[in-house]
Amino acid sequence: IPVEPFDLVIFGGTGDLACRKIWPALFRRFVAGQIEGDVRLIGAARGEMDSTGFRDVVQAAIVEFGGEESSQKRELSKFLKLVNYVTLDARGTDGWVDLAGLMRTDRIRAFYFSVAPSLFGDLAKRLHKHGMADDTSRIVVEKPFGRDLETARDLNRVLAQHFDESQIYRIDHYLGKETVQNLMAIRFGNVLFEPLWNSQYVDHIQITVAESVGVGGRGEYYDKSGAMRDMVQNHMMQLLCLIAMEPPAKFDPDAVRDEKLKVIRALDPVRGGDVVRGQYEAQGDKPDYRTQAENPESTTESFVALKALVSNWRWAGTPFYLRTGKRLRDRASEIAVVFKDAPHSIFGADAGRHRNILTIRLQPNEGIELGVTIKEPGPGGMRLIDVPLDMTFAEALGPEDADFPDAYERLIMDVIRGNQTLFMRGDEVEAAWAWTDPIIADWQEGGAAPLPYISGGSGPDEALMLMHRDGRRWREIK
Ligand code: NAD
Repeated sequence: IPVEPFDLVIFGGTGDLACRKIWPALFRRFVAGQIEGDVRLIGAARGEMDSTGFRDVVQAAIVEFGGEESSQKRELSKFLKLVNYVTLDARGTDGWVDLAGLMRTDRIRAFYFSVAPSLFGDLAKRLHKHGMADDTSRIVVEKPFGRDLETARDLNRVLAQHFDESQIYRIDHYLGKETVQNLMAIRFGNVLFEPLWNSQYVDHIQITVAESVGVGGRGEYYDKSGAMRDMVQNHMMQLLCLIAMEPPAKFDPDAVRDEKLKVIRALDPVRGGDVVRGQYEAQGDKPDYRTQAENPESTTESFVALKALVSNWRWAGTPFYLRTGKRLRDRASEIAVVFKDAPHSIFGADAGRHRNILTIRLQPNEGIELGVTIKEPGPGGMRLIDVPLDMTFAEALGPEDADFPDAYERLIMDVIRGNQTLFMRGDEVEAAWAWTDPIIADWQEGGAAPLPYISGGSGPDEALMLMHRDGRRWREIK
């Protein structure tokens, strides 16, 4: 279904994120027929060029990153006709009058801040000054949203001077993933799971976001952030919230976000022994973290594992183990809900111990799998085995339906539709920082370096111990 006509400005429209994600996402929605009619897509950045020159930039980006659709030459040339460019300085006066002249007032106006967060305030102020910050305007902001509670509050304050919370779309692209939304459908669209979704039946939950690559060319940027800020405070906290939250009364933005916020507020502070951080070592010709970060003294972590406790009626006593890192064995992200053992085994010790595990895989092969215990086929007596009830979407839906939109496609269309459900609210972001800040402060006060770990493995041994001492173990990264 096509969205209403809109004008969209991409500040930082020539940048890395715009070229890899935003322009290809817009093009794919155009090919899908969702963007049609009299729409203007305006790149605004510092580089000096005209709209013709900029269309070449966008075309090259789509050809490189747009997937199969980019071979549709006719569609591409139609799409490029919607694209304009304004040379503009976020901090100065250049370009603003031109931009205001291109924006029409009879439609939704969206402004994507794909620039450094230090420019957010400048952009908001100038949008207001040039009459582009009214009730029809929406702004989209990228991560990182601050580097601690104080800076996040400052950013919220700056944006609130010119925009209402209902106009601010804070992107966390994890929330745009098909499987993540499916997690909500599975929980709240079925009667099967919700009665078991609590500490009485769930032994623990594991959330893993493992990458096989190192920091590569982003070393300098990453070194100022680290895994806690780059992954845990935003993406992993959001996943934890979706697993732990109470059913909202409605699937509407504030109802969902209220419930997520309650989860963050119910998190216990993490004690020193419940968190492990690491830094990868060299492997063959691949340099170690400190070399890639160009900081021989760096104490920034490229790996974190921690045990989080949600202290509320539903989850008391059921730990959430989170782990994320770079240069691990494989690229794999998943949430595993590990259920408790059956209270009594009628089959005797020989049959083995079996547990149901619900796995929500974000990458690769997005899908959901439920492990169930059955009898091993054959005459060998009552032996039990685990088999997956597999809900890999590609198989269930057929290849056409399974070609679901990239997270950015969905999220940008949600901005135009005015649906904030999959975006973070200001108070959520602040609450998440309020939880991670003390952990980071402890590290800084302690002054200890992160533990070295072998590239291509599963992180420091201490991370394994974090679970072993509770009589549990991490699932294999694969
Ligand atoms: P980039 O450095 O590649 O691009 C920055 C863009 O901002 C360029 O178009 C540049 O012309 C423009 N710009 C810089 N100063 C300006 C000014 N004074 N006035 C107007 N335009 C100006 O950066 P990027 O990697 O595309 O990142 C953009 C934002 O997205 C950042 O907030 C970043 O943290 C965030 N982000 C990036 C990625 C990614 O994969 N690149 C992922 C997540 C979030």
